[in-house]
Amino acid sequence: MRRRKSTIFFVVLGVLLIALAIALQVGWILLNLQQIALLVLGIVFFALLITGLVLNTTFLVREIRKNEQQDAFLNAVTHELKTPLASIRLYLQTLKQRDLSPEKRSEFYDIMLADSDRLLGTVEQVLAASKTKEKTRRSKAAPVDLREVVAESAAQIVTRYNLPEKAIKITDGSDALMIEADREELQTVFLNLLDNAVKYSGDDPDIAVKFRLRSTGMAEVHVKDRGRGIPSSELKSIFKRFYRVRGSGASDPKGTGLGLFIVRSIVGSYGGRILVKSKGLNKGSTFIVRLPVSE
Ligand code: ADP
Repeated sequence: MRRRKSTIFFVVLGVLLIALAIALQVGWILLNLQQIALLVLGIVFFALLITGLVLNTTFLVREIRKNEQQDAFLNAVTHELKTPLASIRLYLQTLKQRDLSPEKRSEFYDIMLADSDRLLGTVEQVLAASKTKEKTRRSKAAPVDLREVVAESAAQIVTRYNLPEKAIKITDGSDALMIEADREELQTVFLNLLDNAVKYSGDDPDIAVKFRLRSTGMAEVHVKDRGRGIPSSELKSIFKRFYRVRGSGASDPKGTGLGLFIVRSIVGSYGGRILVKSKGLNKGSTFIVRLPVSE
């Protein structure tokens, strides 16, 4: 809220300054109409002044926005770290204080394992996001079957969210889609996309995955969900670091705004592209990953 106020303040300040500059300049021009040389000079300075002001205001607003997103990111990460830790702690305390049946114990262990997976997932995502800045990666590139990686990722997500098998339908195909890539990186891409597809689908996810081989030598993976969709004004921004679409409030799925940023940098580093389509709110979304197939 405070940030929003300061943004408004700077925008109003910028506009006022511009108006003042225009008023001064117009008065000045009127007084000096005969002196053409001065007039031209004045106009040039005027243009420079205005450009500077506009640039300054744009810069300020952008910085404030960035700050706002980083704050939100920190909050999200803290939440993502704290919740599973608190849960693990609670179960450990219970295990220590009470005599529980073996079934109950095993149930608690499973929950704690799932929580620690969640913790690890968050930490790995933050690490991956900082790694995407380094250009010295790509040590483990080898031919990888795209279909296989997608199927493995889907199986992991089905387990992670305890979904029925049919929640993620993968259309088979005959042509091999081999990519020269680091298997783990490719898995990160599809785990993120499928995780989002489930997360933003509400109670009954219905996800379809399709493959295509284009004549340009690009393999395509389409991940389509019937979830809450993405407003068209947000389609470009969602790939930015820390960016999250503002939702309906407390019931919103949690996240860090890093997933799609990581996806885009990995896909980009292989000379591929990630595209997104959505007809709007509650009309589902389709993410398309394009990667060059190896010879
Ligand atoms: P996170 O999910 O942690 O917020 P991401 O970078 O993975 O971060 O996604 C950025 C934003 O894009 C999300 O906050 C969400 O609003 C939107 N988004 C991503 N995938 C989907 C999807 N399948 N359906 C609807 N919205 C999505």
